[in-house]
Amino acid sequence: MAILEDPLRLVVGDRAAKPLDRALELRTVGDLLRHYPRRYETRGELTDLAELRDGEYVTVQAEIAKVTTRPMRGRRGSIFEATVTDGHGVLVLTFFSRGRQDWRGRQLTPGARGLFSGQVSTFKGKRQLAHPDYELLDEGDDAAHAAAEYAAEMIPVYPAAKEITSWQIARSVRIVLDVLDIDDPMPRAIRDRHDLCGLADALRGIHRPIDRADVRRATNRLKWDEAFQLQVVLAQRRLAATAYSATPRPRTAGGLLDSYDARLPFELTVGQDLAGATIGDELALDHPMHRLLQGEVGSGKTVIAVRAMLQVVDGGGQAALLAPTEVLAQQHFRSITEQLGPLGQAGELGGAEHATRVALLTGSLGAAARRRALLEAASGTAGIVIGTHALLEEQVQFADLGLVVIDEQHRFGVEQRDTLRAKAGDGRPHVLVMTATPIPRTVAMTVFGDLEMSTLTELPAGRSPIVTHVVPAAEKPHYLERVWERLREEAGRGRQCYVVCPRIGQGGDGPAGEDGTPLDNEPGDGTRPPLAVLDLAAELERGPLAGLRLAVLHGRLPPDEKDAAMLAFAAGSVDVLITTTVVEVGVDVPNATAMVIMDADRFGVSQLHQLRGRVGRGSHEGLCLLVTEAEADGKSRQRLDAVAATLDGFKLSRLDLEQRREGDVLGAAQAGRRSSLKLLTLLKDEDLIGEARKQAQRVVEADPALAGEPALAAAIRVLLDRERAEYLEKA
Ligand code: ADP
Ligand code: MG
Repeated sequence: MAILEDPLRLVVGDRAAKPLDRALELRTVGDLLRHYPRRYETRGELTDLAELRDGEYVTVQAEIAKVTTRPMRGRRGSIFEATVTDGHGVLVLTFFSRGRQDWRGRQLTPGARGLFSGQVSTFKGKRQLAHPDYELLDEGDDAAHAAAEYAAEMIPVYPAAKEITSWQIARSVRIVLDVLDIDDPMPRAIRDRHDLCGLADALRGIHRPIDRADVRRATNRLKWDEAFQLQVVLAQRRLAATAYSATPRPRTAGGLLDSYDARLPFELTVGQDLAGATIGDELALDHPMHRLLQGEVGSGKTVIAVRAMLQVVDGGGQAALLAPTEVLAQQHFRSITEQLGPLGQAGELGGAEHATRVALLTGSLGAAARRRALLEAASGTAGIVIGTHALLEEQVQFADLGLVVIDEQHRFGVEQRDTLRAKAGDGRPHVLVMTATPIPRTVAMTVFGDLEMSTLTELPAGRSPIVTHVVPAAEKPHYLERVWERLREEAGRGRQCYVVCPRIGQGGDGPAGEDGTPLDNEPGDGTRPPLAVLDLAAELERGPLAGLRLAVLHGRLPPDEKDAAMLAFAAGSVDVLITTTVVEVGVDVPNATAMVIMDADRFGVSQLHQLRGRVGRGSHEGLCLLVTEAEADGKSRQRLDAVAATLDGFKLSRLDLEQRREGDVLGAAQAGRRSSLKLLTLLKDEDLIGEARKQAQRVVEADPALAGEPALAAAIRVLLDRERAEYLEKA
């Protein structure tokens, strides 16, 4: 008998095990059984031999129609050809040999039926398999099958490779299934409740199904395993997190937070109020908060963060705000300092009574400013410390770090979260993660499954809508002229505009890269390099936008110039800012009304949505123009049309998810998770994932160490080992 952890070679023998390991990295019985068929063929479905694509490795079932042998031209040896058919299409099997191939002729005779496997190619207009592997079906087999059964029999087709064919895999699977001995890891109660078949049944059902219903039953059960085990891991992590202690920072009356609320020039939205209350309550607990706050661009997340930070400062602690770029860190610093006014001016003339200080720590600070910021953080003088990655450096210390706020999470990995967290000394700080990329619920449950979640669904009142148009520059060049005219009109009304390009230009910049952030660019349709900020700026200055006040902003500028450009734009002394995606997330200039995105097809859907969130933030309507040379009915254009058609970030993030591989969405930090989700699709299995999460939570709450479920505990160990191994491989 074999268990899932047994090495394959002990069960199927060295010869069969070696290619499985080499070509597909399948080493244990469990590995092999988790290598699921890509599809199933039934005899009836094999008709379309003509559909086979060149280069594919395939296994087909067919009957030999005729065979020929001829000598090779100009060389010793022979070519044996067998033409096979399924009654509809035909395929030629070709074998070359140094000698005669009489023996092959005796095996492959007209009328014989078999499975043939190899790589499809085309030769003289005919589809062929050169040197296929094959296995003939015995007459005896046939006799044993009733005709109808034979036609309906499902042949699993596995993802195969050059060294190993689909049916060689199937043969090993058969051996393994025959000796398999499994303790079902799924708790009995859940199996009953959701009408799930046993694991052994499911494995038989997916590898050797009798009919489609068999496959469905098996797939459902195996999806449950994937979802449930992952959720058990996450539930255990959440539980472990509550075992850490944190200093409670309950709201105190008459503190900075009260004064700040009194100063706020607007009413909080209902969503802000609710999320704020939840966060306020959690900060008062003696174990760390781990919360993800998501909300559309402009939904007002910063205010919530500031209020949380002030509550912690009122409670005697400090808060760190980590921003993904220098531009954003500085903008946060400026706007928070301004919002706080005297509340942030401790020790200064005009500072309020209980005032604190706000420090900025970025990579580009001069030595003196840096020393001062480090000192303010370490001494506790600064209640709020804002910064970029520089905050993660070892020299940065806090007197009493109570809260870490991470803005625009998708730029930071789990490890960075942990680095900052470790600066809190003994206890752990509360953590608030903010993201403007709407995350579909299932992704949130899977990728951020160890975080609780708050969502802001509305924008503050008084926001103007953004109108988006696709500008097909290749088909209609004069539209582009109109674009520049439009910008002149905006400038004429005293408004400001962004022009975004995918590249910096004038040498040296690769496809990705400022501030170390990926651009998330899709390859464009053409081969022309993407438009560059510096080139376009020069062109616009000479031509279409001559006379306007232009400025450029990109990641290669020295930090002070970057800051100066942003400041000038914010102050209204620049009409058009020509920029890369540094301006992406979080930049807030209410007087900016138009954005032109050049080569828009080079950007991802979510990224475009984020970018256009920079306009329409004030009382004037926002305009976003997506300029592209992509073909009218191509995929790229469809994506742009989708962005133009909706302002619903959730819809667009689902679209993003559909179009990218799920692994990319899960991200590098979740490397192991990628391979543990084979059947589950985050988009389609939402209900199942939600239910599995509920059940997992229940199981873990009742029995955190899974003492009563040894089979489940073992399965989780295997899952974690695999995750760890893959993580190490990646790193
Ligand atoms: P984001 O969620 O994109 O980070 P911000 O926090 O930058 O959004 O807020 C965008 C703008 O909206 C800021 O200028 C902020 O002052 C303003 N704002 C936030 N909340 C409200 C509100 N309740 N009413 C009016 N304006 C608000
Ligand atoms: Mg923001």
